[in-house]
Amino acid sequence: MPDTLTDQILPSSESAADKSEANDGRLRHFVISCSDRALPDLAAHGFSREEILSHVNLGNLALAGDLNCASAMQFAVDVCEVESLSVIGHLGCRAIGAAMNRRSAMLLRQWLSPIAGLAAKYSDMLGVSGDSQTVLDRLSALNAIEQAARLCRGLAVSSAWQRRQKLTVNGLILDRNGCVLPQPTFSAAAVDDIDPNFRQALENISHRIIA
Ligand SMILES: [Zn+2]
Repeated sequence: MPDTLTDQILPSSESAADKSEANDGRLRHFVISCSDRALPDLAAHGFSREEILSHVNLGNLALAGDLNCASAMQFAVDVCEVESLSVIGHLGCRAIGAAMNRRSAMLLRQWLSPIAGLAAKYSDMLGVSGDSQTVLDRLSALNAIEQAARLCRGLAVSSAWQRRQKLTVNGLILDRNGCVLPQPTFSAAAVDDIDPNFRQALENISHRIIA
């Protein structure tokens, strides 16, 4: 029985090793990550490299209007029948910095505008008293969680849950060494998980878990 939300999301290294040995070539995990950081080896967290179907873009965004991302996710859910969808953000993200920099090129600001919108919406929670990098790191965490929650409300995931396909959606954050932070994280395996787990993740950020 998992003790914490993180235990539920991230299997123990022992079970991950067992799973790796039993790898049958099936793609089990769909991961959306950020262009400015190579995805580290997450086998210890249950994500064997051979089992990952990945999608990479600047700022690890999961936008409904982005056909590239939406079609990749639909392929992952409907065709590959993956067991998990994960949005993986990271501390020290330069895309987050670019989103908040008014001197960034127009095209860049346009793509990253959802992140700037998040910063405005949650400005109180992100805080203004910390140093700027701390605020940006909190925004990185908030963005990963927001994107994951957005996936939950999208057509691919809601349809999968309606037909009782087993599927967990995660929002995870990597530290600067590429390790998954234990908190804040978001995870949902059913519609009823979305709101309470999103609120809990927000609370973790507001309590300055990342500081
Ligand atoms: Zn990044």
